[in-house]
Amino acid sequence: MERLTRKHVNEDGLQLNFKVYLSKDVNANATADGSIRVYAGLMDMMNDQELLGVIGHEIGHVKHAHTMSAMRTAYMASAGRKAVAASSGTAAKLADSELGALGEKLFNSQFSQSQETESDDYGLAFMQKHKYNVKALESAFRKLASLSGKQGGLDQMLSSHPDPGSRADRMRDKTGGKK
Ligand SMILES: [Zn+2]
Repeated sequence: MERLTRKHVNEDGLQLNFKVYLSKDVNANATADGSIRVYAGLMDMMNDQELLGVIGHEIGHVKHAHTMSAMRTAYMASAGRKAVAASSGTAAKLADSELGALGEKLFNSQFSQSQETESDDYGLAFMQKHKYNVKALESAFRKLASLSGKQGGLDQMLSSHPDPGSRADRMRDKTGGKK
């Protein structure tokens, strides 16, 4: 993770910090203060390029200020924030309850579909800018789509969020169509 994110801490004029959240959940989130957290469960299923695509998407939420300042205030006051601040390494271990209501969740997002689309586009531009694999976002969403129906509870989460299959198709269409 450090290896992948080192060069992006000042991406696009932002001040970002990246952490791995030691949870099996397949998830990632971003908060207004520039904290981008990738869950271990997501890291396990994505290759480096796909992870960079997800990271680019999350940077998009920070850049477009989708995370509200009110949420930031609540977050700063939370025990979770203190736990993150206290950890010096790249890994921060937090209880689910401390993070549950905070930040963006990759599946069960509080963001609108248009904000997700905007961040998907940002993620794609991020990949192009850094000459990463522009097809990696599509394959990341395909992997997420393949989870649907396989894991209990995931279906319910997906129903409240843009369908990853559609997001994958959109990324495919924006990167030159089918192979
Ligand atoms: Zn998002």
